[in-house]
Amino acid sequence: LGRHKDDQRLSYFDYNGLRFGQDTLHVFAGLCAVDTREHVEMMMRALRDHGQVCTRMGAYKPRTSPYSFQGHGKACLPYVFELAGKYGIKVIAMEITHEDHIDQIREALHMTGNPTGVMLQIGTRNAQNFELLKAVGRQQEFPVLFKRGFGITLDESLNAAEYLASEGNRKVIFGLRGMKTNMGDPHRNFVDFSHVPVVKRLTRMPVCIDPSHSVGSRAMAPDGLLDIMHVTAQGVIAGANMILVDFHPEPSKALVDGPQALTLAELPYFLEDVRIAREAY
Ligand code: PEP
Repeated sequence: LGRHKDDQRLSYFDYNGLRFGQDTLHVFAGLCAVDTREHVEMMMRALRDHGQVCTRMGAYKPRTSPYSFQGHGKACLPYVFELAGKYGIKVIAMEITHEDHIDQIREALHMTGNPTGVMLQIGTRNAQNFELLKAVGRQQEFPVLFKRGFGITLDESLNAAEYLASEGNRKVIFGLRGMKTNMGDPHRNFVDFSHVPVVKRLTRMPVCIDPSHSVGSRAMAPDGLLDIMHVTAQGVIAGANMILVDFHPEPSKALVDGPQALTLAELPYFLEDVRIAREAY
């Protein structure tokens, strides 16, 4: 990924008709956690109506409490993939927490006739789960979104991402999602999007920002813009190549992270802000 002395490879990859590189930008708006088929369909229809071909859909959710909703797992994959095909979604970012999930995803894609592509997501909690990273690195079918560990140094996270490449998978995007600090942050996590150009300087990975898990709420600045929108614009102006962002048709009914979800009515405004910020980059 650019950290090995002999690594001279190009800083982009192609997947399912889309190019991911340090010059491209893709928005992955979608559900933090799949809850109902109806919500998946409402989300995907809205994306299609606004010209979007990527989304995020959480099936396997790593939760802080064992008593919280853990995601529908493989049971929801068939309808998520079928609907993706119906609405022209080319790539779904989906977190996995165990290597068995790769087979489950592969089987469900096969069963439904491969209607979409999947980008495997390594969540912040698994950033140093080296056995999982090696397993994900061994398969080269799916690209990977690796999210920075929230309590380790940037260098440690970059080395962890390198486990994917060292096993053979170089289709890796590095995700910034905010850091935990002990300073009583106004946001859920300390927003780290100033590190977008740093990661691009140190590696050849495209860089993703996750404004939803960074800010963690619908807090609004005095100018009437949500903090999520402000930090997204900041990240795009800093050169972000991917935006992973939570939306939900009915945030109050979301089973995971509803308070940080944007509504479908906000989608066109969000996309327009991203477009303007990208022009300013
Ligand atoms: C997520 O993207 O759904 C998620 C849980 O993110 P993170 O691993 O950054 O907390």
